[in-house]
Amino acid sequence: MTETRRDFLKFVVAGSVAAGCPVNLSLLNVETGPTPQLDGDHFAICHEVRDGQPFDKPAVSSRHDVVIVGGGVSGLSAAYFLRGRDFLLLEKETHWGGNAYLQEYQGQAYATGSAFDEKDTASEQLAREIGLVELPINFPDPTIVAGKWVPDTWRGGLDQLPYSDSVRESFKKFRTEFKALDPDKNAQQLDSLPLSNYLKGYAPELKKWWDAYGLSNWGANSADASALVAVEDLQYMSADEDVRRTLPGGNGALSRQLATTLEPKYGQQMIGDATIVSLDPQKAEVHITYVQAGQLRTVAAKYVIMATPKFITARLISGLPDAQHEAMMSFRYCPYPVINMIFDKPIYNRAYDTWCPGNSFTDFIVADWVLQKQPGYAQKNNILTFYTPISELHRDRLLTVDGCQRIAEKVLQDFQNLAPEFSAAEPIEVHMYRRGHPMFLPTPGLFTKVIPVANQPFGRVAFANTDSVGPVSEIGGAVEAARHAVEWTEKQMAAPARSTGKAAAGARK
Ligand SMILES: Cc1cc2nc3c(=O)[nH]c(=O)nc-3n(C[C@H](O)[C@H](O)[C@H](O)COP(=O)(O)OP(=O)(O)OC[C@H]3O[C@@H](n4cnc5c(N)ncnc54)[C@H](O)[C@@H]3O)c2cc1C
Repeated sequence: MTETRRDFLKFVVAGSVAAGCPVNLSLLNVETGPTPQLDGDHFAICHEVRDGQPFDKPAVSSRHDVVIVGGGVSGLSAAYFLRGRDFLLLEKETHWGGNAYLQEYQGQAYATGSAFDEKDTASEQLAREIGLVELPINFPDPTIVAGKWVPDTWRGGLDQLPYSDSVRESFKKFRTEFKALDPDKNAQQLDSLPLSNYLKGYAPELKKWWDAYGLSNWGANSADASALVAVEDLQYMSADEDVRRTLPGGNGALSRQLATTLEPKYGQQMIGDATIVSLDPQKAEVHITYVQAGQLRTVAAKYVIMATPKFITARLISGLPDAQHEAMMSFRYCPYPVINMIFDKPIYNRAYDTWCPGNSFTDFIVADWVLQKQPGYAQKNNILTFYTPISELHRDRLLTVDGCQRIAEKVLQDFQNLAPEFSAAEPIEVHMYRRGHPMFLPTPGLFTKVIPVANQPFGRVAFANTDSVGPVSEIGGAVEAARHAVEWTEKQMAAPARSTGKAAAGARK
């Protein structure tokens, strides 16, 4: 891309990078274009927590039945399930939603992360309960490879892939073999090995396809992902019914609706821009210390629901048993920028989610796909969301605006080279939302061995967040985890009073 075009494009970058914290604002002052949409600078605080630096712990200023830490979908759902209770929800950003956060361009919503849900999941049911009807996607995913658009990849599409007969046969053999596996009966065995082991002997093009698909959906390529998650996804992609549901803005629509539902009555109990720095179990309560507007505060709770990712959770709680601490710290997370390109004319509306193996982005979705099926709808801008997960080794590329801009430029270049009809595609704006550690990798053994150790309630603390459920990071898991944590908490509160403050055997100091 030429410098002129680079300067001409409006490039907006937002989101958190380091240790799940917002990016250092000073890095963004070199930005050309509009003011970056950032939510404050908690960079230093999070790194101090990571580096084990002690914080003052002021006297307790308020007491609550339940403190919920983290206002992503899981924390918001926990708050919703605790309506009527004295809960306090604390979130480090100034907006709700975590990885399920939507933004808008001139009133048109697009996803900055989480995209679609599925029929009958805990999240779809919760959405319905709060008046949000997720709409069916109803269109199997195509793949664009060697300039060719191949419809319905995992069903009729395999015969149309622009490969040799033997490569196409390799894809079909894999489909037959993976469809025959029973993920429920063989969960332990499938979860113990990486997908790449099962891809040995097949055409390299198949591995390339799964590397793109896995990175996008689970943050892991075939060498890092357990085979279990691929079996489950292959079976659902080659099934007759498309069970996926979404709304413009993706799963961020659920976060927004949850916040909108809760705020009128519980707004005072929901605090943003509050970064938790420590959680100290006491004899009959837990002390939670957080930084808000530069001030340290401590609140006390009978019970705490931790809806933060485990690698953060492990650093905040004192006294966790060694095995649980180790389990939490063994989660790996994919750095995951998401790029939205806004076009002032229709560029691509042929499918909801299109796979593009071998490019700097894995796939892209059409933001208003489900609205296009609504009577009377007229598209104003064509907004395409490009999923651009990167290797853990390259996380530092997200630390500077220049690094981010390079990623965005490469994505645009690759898109223009993807097929002849995109060669002249010129976005009027490019938005990037960067996250340093948003999606846990379903590494072999994580689901069957690590999560069951990590998600055990500890004293008065229960664990929500999608990484308490697995096998992959999903919105349904975030809601399910919240429900489990709230049920456990309610049960404890209903039980006769007892002390759960004592640290377990093998606890860390
Ligand atoms: C790019 C991308 C695409 C995805 N696509 C899909 C999809 O299509 N379908 C699907 O089902 N799932 C998808 N997912 C996964 C899905 O978004 C997540 O599983 C879900 O949003 C997790 O919600 P959560 O509340 O469990 O965790 P999070 O969203 O991680 O929320 C945790 C919250 O805790 C806050 N927090 C962290 N540290 C602190 C602290 N010290 N103090 C206070 N607060 C803190 C964070 O700011 C955050 O708001 C995607 C994820 C990503 C990143």
